[in-house]
Amino acid sequence: MIHTRNLTKVHRNGGVERKILQNVNVDIEAGDFVGLLGPSGSGKSTLVNMFGLIELPTSGELLFMGHDITRLKERQRVNLRRGSIGFVFQDFGLIEELSVFENIELPLQYLGYKRKDRVMKVNSILEQMSVSHLKGFFPKHLTGLQKQLVALARAVVIDPSVILADEPTGCLNSNEGSSFMEVLYSLHEKGTTIVMATHSAYEAQKTQRVVQLYDGHIITDSIKGDL
Ligand code: ADP
Ligand code: MG
Repeated sequence: MIHTRNLTKVHRNGGVERKILQNVNVDIEAGDFVGLLGPSGSGKSTLVNMFGLIELPTSGELLFMGHDITRLKERQRVNLRRGSIGFVFQDFGLIEELSVFENIELPLQYLGYKRKDRVMKVNSILEQMSVSHLKGFFPKHLTGLQKQLVALARAVVIDPSVILADEPTGCLNSNEGSSFMEVLYSLHEKGTTIVMATHSAYEAQKTQRVVQLYDGHIITDSIKGDL
């Protein structure tokens, strides 16, 4: 589903070149639940953002569902992202002025779903995540876990090909974090493809496959038996 070949990202600041990712080769297949593990600054977010078509590589190849990403026009990339990728961020990224229902409805609006279908889909996902009782609430009234479950519902509601979660438990306490991981795991068991960046080995072990990054390199990939 996502394939990289010698993926490299370089940032240039005031003439100084910094290699953020170097020769990353990874294959994410449908149904995978990958924990992208590495210390702060190892390049996890940069890689997740490339998988999510938010950042482009400096060199190397990135294939997303058969599309060579560097050959797509900006518009095509945006459409592919909106229709195929669900994001979950550390700081939730909910819109404070919108209710829970409206937050989850928003991506469906971008995709042009009719009102009736939006309502049906949002209600069904609220039920699936056991947060139907929160639908009229605003983000400021929610606990951290509730916010992240709503963010996950917003990611899942478009039936994405892949969920990209960047340190999704980073703002949760450990109990909330465990509950959130259980929900992610149950999504994985239903067949959802998930890539989760984390700096916590404990958390990464809860996924199905651990890819370890260090200084922009992949140092181990448990699917290849390196761990
Ligand atoms: P992680 O998510 O593992 O903490 P990041 O992908 O956020 O790692 O960052 C990797 C490295 O790249 C860090 O050292 C960070 O400072 C650097 N970096 C990220 N974005 C930029 C940028 N736009 N310009 C320069 N350096 C950047
Ligand atoms: Mg990060």
